[in-house]
Amino acid sequence: MTSGTSRAVSTTHSPVAGVSFSPMNPTSVLFEAFLKCPTKCYLRSVGEVGSGNAYAEWVLAQNDTYRGEATKWLMEGVPEVERAISPSATEDLKASKWRVAVDLQVQTATMESRIHAVERVPSEGRGRPAQFVPIRFIPFNKLTKDDRLLVVFDALVLSEVRRREVGVGKIIHGDGQATLKVKTASLMGTLRKLTGNMEAALTGSTPPDLVLNRYCAECEFRDRCRQKALEKDDLSLLSGMAEKERKGYHKKGIFTVTQLSFTFRPRRRPKRLRDKREKYHQSLKALAIREKKIHIVGTPELNIEGTPVFLDVEALPDRDFYYLIGARVPTGEGMV
Ligand code: SF4
Repeated sequence: MTSGTSRAVSTTHSPVAGVSFSPMNPTSVLFEAFLKCPTKCYLRSVGEVGSGNAYAEWVLAQNDTYRGEATKWLMEGVPEVERAISPSATEDLKASKWRVAVDLQVQTATMESRIHAVERVPSEGRGRPAQFVPIRFIPFNKLTKDDRLLVVFDALVLSEVRRREVGVGKIIHGDGQATLKVKTASLMGTLRKLTGNMEAALTGSTPPDLVLNRYCAECEFRDRCRQKALEKDDLSLLSGMAEKERKGYHKKGIFTVTQLSFTFRPRRRPKRLRDKREKYHQSLKALAIREKKIHIVGTPELNIEGTPVFLDVEALPDRDFYYLIGARVPTGEGMV
């Protein structure tokens, strides 16, 4: 891993019970990266810039476009005098008169976030303070727990600035600008745990272990990390190997694909297991890679009766939309 910078820093405590952070501000951008991969978070924290992944660039552009459109949509629903763009959040929140503000840079001594938008719900009576609701714009129709955690992170930073609990966050998302309300209390425990893990990853004496994962394809560091993994012949090159399995091999002193390839032993299957599915052998996959050969476990039998039809379905899962279905059928005149 590059930039093996060790940053031993002491921690300070946040005014929110149970949450502590290092003086190097954990930003929402780093937290978003950490939710996907500790290495991505680390690389961003040391200022490394990834490149060469067209898909990652397309996702960034898509996010920006959606954020722009959703911002416009949100602002248009509010009278002009009640809108604000990039107001100074730290000093003016209490005195603010706006109902909706977009693009707020919210920062405390220990944390920061560039919040997409904030809704101010006026006080409901004397002595009762106005409520502030952070809003995130997310282009997808189907939301994940990570999306919810990000808006709770925004709420946490906002609560620090206001020194009052922010109980609700909102996500505006998808094609129809649907709104999801997120109660921050329900995810605060998970957020605390994750921010603690992030702090440990960023302040440890060595960078986090590089583990290729399912997010690599859409990550700006894809080429860099793959190159490093190839140089190390790292086990995470075998996609589909679960973390538990990989750690199990580490305990046995197996760290590389080549080492693993020497552990495969073909075994005759007992008769009683003949009808059961053969387990997947990562060691055989490793052997196939080392020998550059295809290996097949057992003797495959293809008993296809009737007319075999090969179907290929392509979809956009986020929209539950099947945009192409292909079928290949043998006929008397050949394949159709
Ligand atoms: S390419 Fe993969 S391993 Fe590397 S930082 Fe991105 S997600 Fe993490």
